[in-house]
Amino acid sequence: MNEPDRKQPVPIGETSRADGDARRLWSRRVHSLTPYVPGEQPRDRVFIKLNTNENPYPPAPGVVEAIQTFPVERLKLYPDPTGLATRTALAEYHGVALGQVFVGNGSDEVLAMAFQAFFNHHVDPATADATEQIVFPDITYSFYPVYARLYDIPYRTVPLDDDFSMPLVALAAPSAGIVLANPNAPTGIALSLDDIRSLAAADRNRLILVDEAYVDFGGESAVALLTEFDNILVIQTLSKSRSLAGMRIGFAIGDPHLIHALERIRDSFNSYTLDSLAQTCASAAFADGPWFETTRARIMATRERTAKALVPLGFSVLPSAANFIFIRHDSLKAADLYTRLREEGILVRHFKQPRIENFLRVSIGTDLEMDAFIASLAEITADRQS
Ligand SMILES: *Cc1c(COP(=O)(O)O)cnc(C)c1O
Repeated sequence: MNEPDRKQPVPIGETSRADGDARRLWSRRVHSLTPYVPGEQPRDRVFIKLNTNENPYPPAPGVVEAIQTFPVERLKLYPDPTGLATRTALAEYHGVALGQVFVGNGSDEVLAMAFQAFFNHHVDPATADATEQIVFPDITYSFYPVYARLYDIPYRTVPLDDDFSMPLVALAAPSAGIVLANPNAPTGIALSLDDIRSLAAADRNRLILVDEAYVDFGGESAVALLTEFDNILVIQTLSKSRSLAGMRIGFAIGDPHLIHALERIRDSFNSYTLDSLAQTCASAAFADGPWFETTRARIMATRERTAKALVPLGFSVLPSAANFIFIRHDSLKAADLYTRLREEGILVRHFKQPRIENFLRVSIGTDLEMDAFIASLAEITADRQS
């Protein structure tokens, strides 16, 4: 038998060995997964990137300095597994106790651990009744069903109302847990604290995960409800409002016993989820209040200005409390607009999903980027009319 030439990498997707397709080695779990598809990160061409809700402004000057002065020799040591310095900064900022804060490698990781910690009650998804299912809206962050399937958690979705507001009555019906993005994605619509309070009060034996990835752009944080409720877990990220998507820092705030459950999951998986540099940057980001306030105010002002400019071009714009807008044109198809914008060097997000296939989600960039976006749409919509 000839040994395969080890210097020749096998192109992914091609079969090179006589024994056939190595997918025969996949676990049943891998066969059954439907992974999340992240927004495009093009490397081949410079785009105006309005497709993944990144912050258009750089991280705070304090973060830049923390990176430049980071003692590199510290990298030979493992990071602090508890993220103490970061958690201290977060606890101070949010006015909670240290034991109420959990940090992780982006809020996606924290969310995944929360699904595993609180919702996997060993029910067979095929036979689960309504009280054994968790619920979330039909139109929301598309990672939720991915995590539910990954951990065999039975779930159902409840349709958002026709105006895309939250169907509070359906959400409050008996279930094993509620997952909400607030403000919701990709709609940008926010729920009031009173609404979250009534959901939490409807059944105190049921946990509500509130994913506040966008809360700093106009929402109200459910951290304010934690003195009343131990069945709310708030999850936030430094990816959006703190301009640190590439650093991967997310956190949860809740009752110390909920935090302890997350620690038990983490320490059964990977004790060092946040690296030393990320921990340093997280503390520095929270130490720089003025930068945070200035950049988020600028993004909110740009959002309002952009929304106003789109209306005369024939767009309807959902009311957004996030760093993106969700828009629809009264005659042009979203798929065509997406393609035309892409040709103009502007990337936005289009979801080929029932009810929203005619919408585009547009992240708020700098004023210059949004001017270019508005100008492109003015041309595209004018072409159409002539
Ligand atoms: C961006 C986003 C996240 C993930 O944030 P990371 O901290 O970068 O993992 C979580 N939830 C929602 C709704 C988001 O839009």
